[in-house]
Amino acid sequence: MRKCPYCGRENGEEAADCLECGTALAKKEPAARPLESQDEAGREWLGISLRTVCTILLVGGLYLLSFGPVRRYCGTVITTGPTSAGPGITSVRTVRYPAWVSSIYLPAFLIGSASGYDGLYARYLRWWDDRPRPR
Ligand SMILES: [Zn+2]
Repeated sequence: MRKCPYCGRENGEEAADCLECGTALAKKEPAARPLESQDEAGREWLGISLRTVCTILLVGGLYLLSFGPVRRYCGTVITTGPTSAGPGITSVRTVRYPAWVSSIYLPAFLIGSASGYDGLYARYLRWWDDRPRPR
């Protein structure tokens, strides 16, 4: 039985409004989710976010790593010459890349130059640049 909060009349379990005064009877609260299943949902959510982050890192990492060989084997060296651009920088290469490389790898270009001449990524790219070309 559900007691009307206004007039106090007992109404049937299924009644939406009080039969006596018409006051809307409060809906039964849906049973709260047990703590255990909330934990489970949290773990599931955590797993999904971890997988998403890992996928992004993996794809991003592969993308950045692939720029080394791509720019090595798709670029055409136009000039190689000595330079005095900075301490430790002895030669500068001018390389032309196909348009698709320039557009797809624009973020990698930017990261490479943002990391500086001695940055890890810049060194990685130079390592590829210095590899002998296949014949
Ligand atoms: Zn009532």
